[in-house]
Amino acid sequence: MKFSHTNLNKPFLYGHRFVHGHCHSEIGKDIFQSVIKCRAAVAWEPSKPLVMEEIEVAPPQAHEIRIKIVATGVCHTDLYHLFEGKHKDGFPCVLGHEGAGIVESVGSEVTKFNPGDKVIPLFISQCGQCRFCKSPKTNLCEKGWASDRYDVMSESDTRFTCKGKKVLQFMGTSTFSEYTVVNEIAVAKIHPSAPLDKVCLLGCGVATGYGAALNTAKVEPGSTCAVFGLGAVGLAAVMGCKNAGAKRIIAIDINPTKYEKAKVFGATEFVNPKDHNKPISQVLHEMTNGGVDFSLECVGSVAVMRSALESCVKGWGVSVLVGWTDMDDFAARPIQLIAGRTWKGSLFGGFKSKDGVPKLVNEYLEKKVKLDEFVTHNMTLAQVNDAIQLMQTGDCIRSVLSVALQ
Ligand code: NAD
Ligand code: ZN
Repeated sequence: MKFSHTNLNKPFLYGHRFVHGHCHSEIGKDIFQSVIKCRAAVAWEPSKPLVMEEIEVAPPQAHEIRIKIVATGVCHTDLYHLFEGKHKDGFPCVLGHEGAGIVESVGSEVTKFNPGDKVIPLFISQCGQCRFCKSPKTNLCEKGWASDRYDVMSESDTRFTCKGKKVLQFMGTSTFSEYTVVNEIAVAKIHPSAPLDKVCLLGCGVATGYGAALNTAKVEPGSTCAVFGLGAVGLAAVMGCKNAGAKRIIAIDINPTKYEKAKVFGATEFVNPKDHNKPISQVLHEMTNGGVDFSLECVGSVAVMRSALESCVKGWGVSVLVGWTDMDDFAARPIQLIAGRTWKGSLFGGFKSKDGVPKLVNEYLEKKVKLDEFVTHNMTLAQVNDAIQLMQTGDCIRSVLSVALQ
């Protein structure tokens, strides 16, 4: 019998079965699967520190997969839910949506995954059947958690309980837990040699920014680009602009400590809005003889979204919203669009998730996509509140937390 490092040492009674942490390997082909008790960081209420708790993780049901999470990144969207969105129907929950792990067990009807497979849980599903999956125009899927509780950022059904209470699965994933259960339409099987503590970043931030440049903006060779916000999402957008052949990549952040990293990913110029007493769009127009060809907003601020649009050149400029917010409306003068600019949004970089993520993992293994350079801190799940603080103070790019032992 295998144990993750924090599982209990003594067997205990759960329901009518003795359960001792992880059971699948002992049972072999027996269909009995136990509830797993494991450690998770629970967000009991908005704006409060996460609490390490023992939770119960139910066995996977039909078409579901139970995953041992090995590593997870902390993304700004986790912080958004905790500190800004604070949706009353969204707590208690287990946050985390940028993880990688190993299949522990599979429910009935699952044919394409086996225990031991390396996987990335996906916050955008790809059922392959719905009208969105069938269209090459979008990566949305009708069957995922987002179809009915989008604003809450979790589905109402969950496989987690803690202290007798239902605990929601944030973005259908919940990677701040040693084990989680995800529908097979939201799991990508990845290359067996992929290092999970790096490729976890393809579960959200890096895929999002990279794809926003390549798939959504469709950055062209020789073009001039501006990326607003140089967290992992923005830096991945810089990398996307560079791999698409952009000539100038102007990196914009109010935190100048981010510029060194941006250079690593291909930024050619740096602008700190705080150094200027005129609108940043005007600064960019002056630097580029009338505006950039492509701009990407990777901050999550409606004011910056407007600046990013207004920084584009008339005639053909394309501005992409990548940063996440649902708190405020945005505004712009209609002439901005009438004069030929395009304003678009990008969810998960426009990648169809189950198809795209394994390909991105392979591109990392072939050294076409950088991941190691995003990781500034390696910590454990128990240090998740420190990792959250590092992101709040702007002192990290990505903190990767080790969750369960491999
Ligand atoms: P992060 O906190 O690491 O990075 C944000 C960066 O923006 C920081 O470097 C900060 O200094 C900078 N910034 C803040 N205000 C600014 C301003 N006025 N002008 C320029 N820069 C400014 O966050 P992250 O994890 O990289 O995420 C970035 C955004 O992307 C968040 O809003 C997140 O929720 C969103 N996101 C969206 C998707 C999607 O699918 N669309 C997926 C993941 C994350
Ligand atoms: Zn994210």
